[in-house]
Amino acid sequence: MAYRAEYIWIDGTEPVPLIRSKTRILADGAEAPMWGFDGSSTNQAPGENSDCVLRPVFECHDPIRGGDDRLVLCDVLVPETMEPHKTNTRAACKEVAERFADHEAWFGMEQEYTFFEEGRPLGWPSEGYYYPAPQGPYYCGVGAIEIAGREIVEAHTTACMQAGLAISGTNAEVMLGQWEFQIGPLGPLEVGDHMWMARYLLYRIAEDFGVNASVSAKPIKGDWNGAGCHTNFSTNAMRENYDAIIAACEAIGAADKVEEHLEGYGHGYEERLTGQHETAHFSEYRYGVSDRGASVRIPWQVAQDKKGYIEDRRPNANIDPYVVSRIITNTVCSAIDPA
Ligand code: ADP
Ligand code: MN
Ligand code: MN
Ligand code: MN
Repeated sequence: MAYRAEYIWIDGTEPVPLIRSKTRILADGAEAPMWGFDGSSTNQAPGENSDCVLRPVFECHDPIRGGDDRLVLCDVLVPETMEPHKTNTRAACKEVAERFADHEAWFGMEQEYTFFEEGRPLGWPSEGYYYPAPQGPYYCGVGAIEIAGREIVEAHTTACMQAGLAISGTNAEVMLGQWEFQIGPLGPLEVGDHMWMARYLLYRIAEDFGVNASVSAKPIKGDWNGAGCHTNFSTNAMRENYDAIIAACEAIGAADKVEEHLEGYGHGYEERLTGQHETAHFSEYRYGVSDRGASVRIPWQVAQDKKGYIEDRRPNANIDPYVVSRIITNTVCSAIDPA
């Protein structure tokens, strides 16, 4: 028998890249080899020199097809040099992860997203005022009025578990049709690998329901929550003492760092980080215990225990997790360890 390997990669669509995938049939037991694709169809190469290389970097069981079938996440290389393509953010993340490996950085990312059907959020009325009742009952809600899309969420969670991904929880969010899953804690590179794989499964499973899962940061304008990807972070020092927690909050907020972080925190952060809807305005950096209106929150339990982790609340739902984990690791670890 043969098996199917679904090759998955991140394209060059701007401003927010898309996931692409295609299927390769491989002989039983054969390792997934390097492969290629037409980069002129993914905004990654010009038509006259269109080939890009796919290099397998992370594999898992394919829970959709089952059996011996596999999912194969790849990064993209340029064929002439076999160097990382300019859209390949994993390579730079790997470099930083290795440089600061001694710090044992961990990340837990809270991926929020919104289901859409026929152009509006799932569960929103198709007639009358087009809006559901105001926000209030939907966060962690239960019941047919409060919830839309749970069957998709359950199928996605099961799939992530069967694939062996480090999914650590799910919840319904503040806006009807909006949900969250969490990945981690994992190292800077691994959190990106698992997150991209989990996103692939989300889009692929929602497709079977005729639903689009969107990571738009502000899917509905007005008095409706945006969608973020809160990024929880610790190093071995932070998991042991509170001085390291405070030092990390200060390092991330240093005057010369705020801009660099925001640049990596996803397209349209200005629309989401308004100072309302549980965000701090993007122009001010603030950290605080239990403060969901701060840029960086120190969880209450962490302030009690005097050790643990911090939550950067600014990253958007549409982030590239490799970029966010690289920037945070680099800022915090090089502040502690300038060498
Ligand atoms: P919130 O209360 O902000 O909604 P969640 O429970 O959704 O928080 O997410 C918290 C995330 O933090 C989880 O993904 C969890 O795995 C992660 N996490 C827990 N401990 C650590 C740690 N020491 N370092 C990094 N991430 C952590
Ligand atoms: Mn959460
Ligand atoms: Mn949330
Ligand atoms: Mn959070």
